[in-house]
Amino acid sequence: NDYLQSVLDAPETQQEKALRPLSFSDFSGQGKTVERLQVMVGAARARGEALSHILLHGPPGLGKTTLAHILGNEMGSNVRITSGPVVEKAGDLAGLLTGLQAGDILFIDEIHRIPKSVEEYLYSAMEDFRLDIMIDQGPNARSVRLTIPRFTLVGATTRTGLLTAPLRSRFTLQTRLDYYDHKTLQSIVERSCGLLEVPVDSAGSSEIAGRARGTPRVANNLINFARDYAEQRADGKISGKVAAAALELLEIDANGLDEMDKRILRLMAENYNGGPVGLGTVAVAVGEEQHTLEEVHEPYLIQEGYIARTQQGRVLTPKGWQVIGLQPSEG
Ligand code: ADP
Repeated sequence: NDYLQSVLDAPETQQEKALRPLSFSDFSGQGKTVERLQVMVGAARARGEALSHILLHGPPGLGKTTLAHILGNEMGSNVRITSGPVVEKAGDLAGLLTGLQAGDILFIDEIHRIPKSVEEYLYSAMEDFRLDIMIDQGPNARSVRLTIPRFTLVGATTRTGLLTAPLRSRFTLQTRLDYYDHKTLQSIVERSCGLLEVPVDSAGSSEIAGRARGTPRVANNLINFARDYAEQRADGKISGKVAAAALELLEIDANGLDEMDKRILRLMAENYNGGPVGLGTVAVAVGEEQHTLEEVHEPYLIQEGYIARTQQGRVLTPKGWQVIGLQPSEG
């Protein structure tokens, strides 16, 4: 029943693929990250070398996978996509790495979920472009050294804190993606509507941008529903009024908060008088997994100033109380 989580977790659709920017010039926002990447790409190309390893971190749906593809396009190299939980054994990693050509980009999403036993092999692969793997067992066990082409690892994670220090330190660049501001998100909505040939006016794109919680993937998803709504309940054009009505129907309010966000805030208010309360406790009470709260809901609620993180746990801010229309009780 968590709309947001289902949007953010869903596998990529054909439509999303069609909307994905292919070059830096197509990609709006994330100014610092984009500039850092452009500098690295420019330098690597000028020297005729592979890019060095890059770690992208930030909440889901902000463009990490998109940037990995853009890096591939800009470098003129292939991009192989995998994710941490899929690389279960050292042999899986060996298979991936030995299949690469020099200069290829290996994108590992959710890199913090690589099993520890595999992670250690990654160190020498990243640093020395070799893998020492054990084959056979018992008295016949021996180590075989594989040489790997000079590749670029682009890792993605929601928070760098989830990575071990030795893995983190092997990335030359670690760069953070932030939630998009309203203006940038509105331009992304307009670009997507243009590509999809969906009629929208500036009030409509503004309304969608305002409710997409700073996240392009959410924005693109809201466009779909707003288009359906416009066709079924209006004249087919996404105006401000149509967009607002469509998103109300999805129970996404004018602040971009969904039902789960508000349940979290109300729980903190009603059961804990605003906190402090541990996130694990909140997760159990609202019936959602803790990591979803940590990765999807909490970062946005904190960024927008509805809750704050303290040593003792999470607390509701005055703005948080206000948005659910309640007040702390005395004493
Ligand atoms: P992540 O890997 O961080 O979860 P993605 O790269 O999959 O996010 O991006 C989600 C969707 O949002 C993609 O389909 C892409 O089209 C769109 N998107 C992300 N960033 C931008 C951007 N800066 N401009 C336009 N579209 C974007």
